[in-house]
This record gives sequence, C-alpha cells and structure tokens, in this order.
Amino acid sequence: MNSTPRIAIVIPCYNEQEALPITASKLLELLDKMAGEELVSLDSYILCSNDGSRDNTWQVITRLHSEDPRIKGISLAHNRGHQYALLAGLMAAHGHCDAAISIDADLQDDPNAIVEMVRRFREGKEIVYGVRSSRATDTWFKRTTAHGFYSFQRLMGLDTVYDHADYRLMSDRALGLLEEYGESNLFLRGIIPQIGLDTAIVTYERHERVAGESKYPLAKMISFSIDGITSFSAKPIRVIFMTGLILMLLDIAVAIYVFSAYFADKTILGWTSLMLSVWFLGSITLMSIGIVGEYIGKIFNEVKHRPRYAIRDRLMD
Ligand code: UDP
Ligand code: MG
Repeated sequence: MNSTPRIAIVIPCYNEQEALPITASKLLELLDKMAGEELVSLDSYILCSNDGSRDNTWQVITRLHSEDPRIKGISLAHNRGHQYALLAGLMAAHGHCDAAISIDADLQDDPNAIVEMVRRFREGKEIVYGVRSSRATDTWFKRTTAHGFYSFQRLMGLDTVYDHADYRLMSDRALGLLEEYGESNLFLRGIIPQIGLDTAIVTYERHERVAGESKYPLAKMISFSIDGITSFSAKPIRVIFMTGLILMLLDIAVAIYVFSAYFADKTILGWTSLMLSVWFLGSITLMSIGIVGEYIGKIFNEVKHRPRYAIRDRLMD
C-alpha cells in the first residue's frame, strides 16, 4: 500500500456513559501516535454506534464529537443488541475508510493490538482477528463457561476462530462483502470466516472493564451461543436423527426382553423399566421438538426480511 490508510475504529455502545469518555480519549491518543508514525492517515476516526442506550451515552457521544470531530456517531432507534449495533457501525464506515476495526467500549480488549492489526493490513491481510492470549482477568466462571461454549459450538459444526470475540480489522472490501450477507440472525463470528480473503491473527491480553458493568450475563451468553449454532449448522438436527436411530435399535432389544418376560409370566416386574422409558422418551421428544422449533423460528424470522436496524441520528461530518 502506498498512501497511509484511513482507519475507522467502530465501537458498539450500550449504556456506556462511564466508559466512553475514557475509551475515546485512549483511542484518540492511539490514533495520534499511529498517525505520527505514518501508520494511519490523519483523518482516521472513531465511530460510536449507540445501541439505544437508556443512559446518557448519546449525549456523551455528541459532546465528544463537538470537542473532536474525529469522534463520529450513529444512534440506533432502539436497543438491538451488540451484533446489530456493530453491523450498523461497520456499514456506516463502509465506503468512508480503508479498514475498520471493531472494539468494545469497555477496552477489555487491549487497544494496542490495533497497531499490529494495521501493520498486518498494510502487509495485505484483509481480515485480522484479535485473539486472546489468556483469560487471566476474566472470572473463573466466565472463563470456564466461555470455553465450554466454544467447544460446544465446534462440536455442533460451527466454524469460529477460538478465543476471538468481535475484536477485528476488516478492509473496506471485506466490509462490502459482509454487506452482501442479508440474514437477520446475525452472528458475525460465524459469517466473517465464510467471507474468505487473506486473514491473519494478532494476540493480545484481555483486561478488566475500564468502567461500568458487563452487559453479557450468563443467560445472554447461552442464548447467543444457541443462536450462533442454529444460524450456521444443521448438525443438531442430525444429532436428533441419530439419537432416534439408536433408540430404535435399543427398542428391538427392549421388545425381545418384553416378549420373553411376557411369555415367562413376569410382566408385573416391568414397572421400573416402563417408568424409565416413559420419562426418557418423553424428554427426548420434548428436546427434539424444541430444537426443530429453533430452526422454524429462524425461518420465520428470515422470511420476513425485516430491516436489521434503524438509525435515528448520525454525526458523520
Ligand atoms: N453492547 C451493545 N448492545 C447490547 C449489549 C452490549 O452494543 O445490547 C456493547 C457494549 O456496550 C460493549 C460490547 O457490546 O461495548 C460488549 O459488551 P460487554 O462488555 O458488556 O460484554 P462482556 O465483555 O461482558 O462479554
Ligand atoms: Mg466487555
């Protein structure tokens, strides 16, 4: 690349009034430093995507914008969730940058890795994944559940980058390709590896939040994980089918046992096995209906072709 690239740092923000001023000034400092080293252009900027916050996040963004126009913003009409706020931000930056980097508002992901990402981009990589080198600062519970989810997702046929959240660099071309994915069930970590292009990985340490508290409790993590799997893989359906097949084979053995017991006049002894199978089969049936329902729910959402987000305000000049 000949000229210095224009970089957009995209931050999804939900109730981040405490963290945002700290984060914005740290990132501006970083942009200044990189511009000084002629790594990025002087008009590189930060784009805050306000996800329908209930606190004063948008007022904070507006104030930051008036102090330094390199801080830009868009505001969604209501809270749509992290993935949608991020997509809205990336699409607002598309066409107005050479590469966009997504990072959370809480700076848990070390912003210094951005320097390395930009270097990889200038070497010709179009997607650069930020991957955590350790989870030492996460609580034991968060670490274990998160790793559990990664392994489970793998097992269920979802292809994601291990220990990579949504901290990554994408070239403007990659953003254009991302735009082509019209699905409503957004799981960016599953979509982006499918885009292809030249990729690289940059490792970093994960820190504590700079301010405020986590918007991702366990319940949200579980639902996010289920969403991810059912958006990308039909493997759960196959698991149901295989379970059914194995149960059918078991049934033959059960039938032989039942008939031999019947002819030996010992049928009243069957209570235990009957109870067990009723409960077992009942639960399998319910679970299966649940999983099938997941997919039907997805189809229901997709066929409506609803807009994925609605932008209320922009501060893009
Ligand atoms: N976020 C968002 N919409 C939401 C929830 C979270 O835009 O509905 C943003 C939040 O402001 C932060 C990022 O997503 O920038 C990650 O959230 P958080 O740090 O709370 O998640 P955790 O790191 O605890 O998993
Ligand atoms: Mg966080």
